[in-house]
Amino acid sequence: MNPLFNFTHTDTDKGTLEWRSPSNIALIKYWGKHGEQKPINPSVSMTLKYAFTQTEIHWSPKSSPSAADFEFFLSQQKVGEKFEKRVGQLIKIIAAEYPKINEKLLTINSINTFPHSTGIASSASGLSALALALMSLGKRLHGQDLSYDAFLQKASYYARLGSGSACRSVYAPYAIWGAGATANSTNEFAIPFTPHNDFLKIHDSILIFSKTPKTVSSSAGHELMNNHAYKQGRIAQANENTQNMLEALKSGDFEKWQHITENEALALHGLMLSSVSPVLQLLPDSIQFLTDFMAFRKGKGLKAAFTIDAGPNIHILYAPEHYEEVRAFISNWITERRRPIDVIDDETGKGAKELF
Ligand code: ADP
Repeated sequence: MNPLFNFTHTDTDKGTLEWRSPSNIALIKYWGKHGEQKPINPSVSMTLKYAFTQTEIHWSPKSSPSAADFEFFLSQQKVGEKFEKRVGQLIKIIAAEYPKINEKLLTINSINTFPHSTGIASSASGLSALALALMSLGKRLHGQDLSYDAFLQKASYYARLGSGSACRSVYAPYAIWGAGATANSTNEFAIPFTPHNDFLKIHDSILIFSKTPKTVSSSAGHELMNNHAYKQGRIAQANENTQNMLEALKSGDFEKWQHITENEALALHGLMLSSVSPVLQLLPDSIQFLTDFMAFRKGKGLKAAFTIDAGPNIHILYAPEHYEEVRAFISNWITERRRPIDVIDDETGKGAKELF
């Protein structure tokens, strides 16, 4: 924790604060929700390091203390109603607890280090960074003294209301969200999880097969689970996979980890494909890459697994001792196919932090 965390400015009239929050890659997928952003099944994720959002809030007095006024910029650009609506909703929710936010004019500047809306969970990093920054602001304006743990738990709760998987981004190195996963896990917020030492550093090379925003957003995708023919089966599968994944992560069992990670990725896409309105997000190149990756891996005993979120881009997760071999395979595949595919080389991260 930073020693400046509970430093309260005497002048709260105007100022600036900034938070960085990472994306996370789900090993057990969250797909389907009910009520107020509650998941239909528990999920488990690894927090990333270099795929993150950095969000700065500048605040100053405004003339009338009604609803909060704000301006939102992504990479110094106005990004339109879709972003603004979600940002405005979260401000409203957090300002209900911290009403002095409504007395301020907020200028919010955010950057993502990776393309948004393509299945690398910018919603997780973006909404968690925003929740953390707004909570920080509320806490300062109201002079609230909170322990760092209580602050993070509250931020995870608010991040969840912004975007479900965002609640997991607050914690590292891994996070669990959803009732029933462990004795203390809940649907309200995520909790941190520390695995066996061998899982503390896992590389994640993300192959960007498309930077084009998805045609079906994750929010629309979750709705497709409401009347899904396989809904009950999925809930049972995710609960069983969660228990097995937590056992694998605790004991350092890479074989089990690989099996469940890949089962979850394919199950997610299977659910999308079998929705009443089918969603096909994998591209021919994504499928070709997966086929070639499995052939490359065969018989080598590599601690390496693929996973895919709701999009066409593929994450290859692997242990540090296989870095050279796996990374060379990825580079050669791209060179041989002469495709303009970017790779983000990420790894397990340390969680969100305030920048001073
Ligand atoms: P992704 O796979 O990137 O999570 P989604 O469609 O699920 O795709 O989420 C994208 C949405 O996340 C955007 O439309 C926007 O509402 C939100 N978002 C992305 N980046 C940010 C950011 N830096 N700050 C606030 N919200 C963001």
